[in-house]
Amino acid sequence: MSTFSAPKGTYDLLPPDSATFLAVREAIAAPLRRSGYGYVETPGFEHVELFSRGVGQSTDIVTKEMYTLTTKGGTDLALRPEGTASVLRAALQANLHRAGNLPVKLWYSGTYYRYERPQAGRYRHFSQVGAEAIGAEDPALDAELVILAADAYRALGLSGVRLLLNSLGDRECRPAYRAALQDFLRGLDLDEETRARIEINPLRVLDDKRPDVQRQLDGAPLLVDHLCESCKEYHERVRELLTAAGVAFTDDPRLVRGLDYYTRTTFEFVHDGLGSQSAVGGGGRYDGLSELIGGPPLPSVGWALGVDRTVLALRAEGVELPVPAGTDVFAVPLGEEARRTLFGVVTELRRAGVAADFAYGGRSAKASMKAANRSGARFAVVAGERDLAEGVVQVKDLDSGEQAPVALDGLAAELAARLSGGAADA
Ligand code: ATP
Ligand code: MG
Repeated sequence: MSTFSAPKGTYDLLPPDSATFLAVREAIAAPLRRSGYGYVETPGFEHVELFSRGVGQSTDIVTKEMYTLTTKGGTDLALRPEGTASVLRAALQANLHRAGNLPVKLWYSGTYYRYERPQAGRYRHFSQVGAEAIGAEDPALDAELVILAADAYRALGLSGVRLLLNSLGDRECRPAYRAALQDFLRGLDLDEETRARIEINPLRVLDDKRPDVQRQLDGAPLLVDHLCESCKEYHERVRELLTAAGVAFTDDPRLVRGLDYYTRTTFEFVHDGLGSQSAVGGGGRYDGLSELIGGPPLPSVGWALGVDRTVLALRAEGVELPVPAGTDVFAVPLGEEARRTLFGVVTELRRAGVAADFAYGGRSAKASMKAANRSGARFAVVAGERDLAEGVVQVKDLDSGEQAPVALDGLAAELAARLSGGAADA
């Protein structure tokens, strides 16, 4: 182990790639901001019980993937493995559900921690942007969230994202289905751990990714065939609204989510260019979660989209996001007096909203011009004693190579105008 390498399963976001990550987070958040979702931020760690109850004792997340720790004060904490339980906890703690209209609509962006086997698209530290609509049961709300996610992927320029849709039923119809599924599963040839899971949370067995298990699940009873009338009706409304909004989906009667608390609408966004880590995002309705963590009944729906895998999907499709230029103007002083003057110009440019940088380190003119070119700037501002004596600087267009003197007085406004495509003759 080297002090200078990141822990296994993690990676650093560095320029220039980090700009893509920011752009993805922003693109996922934009539709939410336009739709009444307010930003929420919760701690990176919570009491362990929040997740063991809220995510579920029988999930991989809780049994295998959670980073837990005991503080010096003896409190058992876990690094957050997901966002929903924390966001609902925060909303309940602040009584947001009593303060105003329901649903309470919140969005978040953060990093999450799961002790997983690291591989392409699967990390121990990863990023999600998520959204939760708390305290309302309305097919239009489920549809809204799915549409907002689909719109985010579309705005990013992704064309290979597919939506899988299912209903997990509710308290009425799920118990009978659960029993039927258990009967079926008990007859299969499964390992001990999976057999134990049949008794605790049989739906999760359907989510088993091992091919030999999947093969045996071929004839498993499906929830669609067991949905009660109200669940059927609800699901049909969601499907109609998605279709009306032009959001294509595939009914996937085998889709269950890794988390215990999902009811009714369940969905996953997958991308076929990502190998076995194909899920770029997912979510659904979780009508029972609030009560599970000690709150009042608050039917809710939400999703979390994986930022890392979305970036991989962009790469797989060869989509380059238009990331804003880091630097528009690069200042190259020739001599001490010019350093002082141009440093002032750079400050002024920045205050005027122009991205500007400066040749630091007192290097040669040649090295400084090289830095200007490498910076990606549109213009270099070059000045020596003689220019300054004449009250001008040389402005070089780094695309065309053209160079001309521009008056120092009003320089920032002039450059700002040129960059915004304005006229402004020198
Ligand atoms: P998977 O089935 O791939 O393990 P999951 O069902 O555990 O995914 P969720 O808990 O629903 O995933 O999280 C939502 C999204 O977060 C996923 O669709 C994925 O894009 C991303 N994600 C989950 N776990 C990881 C991870 N370990 N590394 C990178 N991204 C992840
Ligand atoms: Mg997982």
